[in-house]
Amino acid sequence: MEHLLKVDQLKVNFNTYGGEVKAVRDVSFHVDQGEIVAIVGESGSGKSVTVQSIMGLIPSPPGMIKGGSIQFEGKDLLTLSKRQMRKIKGSKIGMIFQDPMTSLNPTMKVGKQIAEALITHRNFSKANAKNKAVEMLKLVGIPNPEARFQQYPHEYSGGMRQRAMIAIALACSPDLLIADEPTTALDVTIQAQVLELMKELQKKMNTAIILITHDLGVVAETAQRVLVMYGGVVVESASVMELFENPRHPYTWGLLQSIPDTDTSEKKRLVPIAGSPPDLFSPPKGCPFAPRCKYAMDICLEEMPTDYDISDGHTAKCWLNDERAPHPETFARLGE
Ligand code: SF4
Ligand code: MG
Repeated sequence: MEHLLKVDQLKVNFNTYGGEVKAVRDVSFHVDQGEIVAIVGESGSGKSVTVQSIMGLIPSPPGMIKGGSIQFEGKDLLTLSKRQMRKIKGSKIGMIFQDPMTSLNPTMKVGKQIAEALITHRNFSKANAKNKAVEMLKLVGIPNPEARFQQYPHEYSGGMRQRAMIAIALACSPDLLIADEPTTALDVTIQAQVLELMKELQKKMNTAIILITHDLGVVAETAQRVLVMYGGVVVESASVMELFENPRHPYTWGLLQSIPDTDTSEKKRLVPIAGSPPDLFSPPKGCPFAPRCKYAMDICLEEMPTDYDISDGHTAKCWLNDERAPHPETFARLGE
């Protein structure tokens, strides 16, 4: 089957006063129709830059796509004109952000913003667009949709704005929805509702979703597959179940340990991953995680690890997966 989206060897740099930053280094992955793929990692890992590249949102300068391709429904998005890209963005790829105000127009009634998208991208008549917009507000769980249609974004609560943004992004039934930390700013209850809503919509409309988050709890609840990014590279990629049961990268181990346990009433301490986030100005020659990794070997400092195939659809970029490497438990005994 042809993938809906196929990102191949994507490289993105940013020119800054401090020098050239390699924000995304040879990132490859795919998304199939109707599936939810999560990208996890801390800030500076390259997850936002990766999806911004898909959306044609890399500010240039200072950003620059240095190589690779992004195939979407058979077209390389990196070769499209601004006009062609705008067309695809409105109709085939939708995006929701952490802060709804970055995509909602504060000067326009919410209902009109949804209707406008339908008129522009789906050739709806004015009357039909209005009906559909009210239907979308209802679908995302906004009470009194008829009345809410006539309100401005500032008259909505934070959670409702998030829903309105989802309604706009989904109005044209995009094949792909990109959600960059869509629930980070929301409180836990609303966060759960918004995630539930996204899952429901994915089922109902068969929309594929790329969900960016730094929260593995969210991944477990929502996604089918996951990419773990660190220092601009994908360090591990697997089905969600496989990642939780058989993680094979020390950074992933750290992330899994830092999930707060919500099932027990007794509050578990959050275990942060030791060391500072990756230095993107002068990334280590070898593995980007080496400065923080308690398993680092000589080769880790010298050479970027290859992607080891762990099982079907599961890869890990870590030398520990080489059959000649010592077993991780040996390190634990030696190092502590
Ligand atoms: Fe640690 Fe080496 Fe694996 Fe990198 S390649 S995560 S430094 S063991
Ligand atoms: Mg980000």
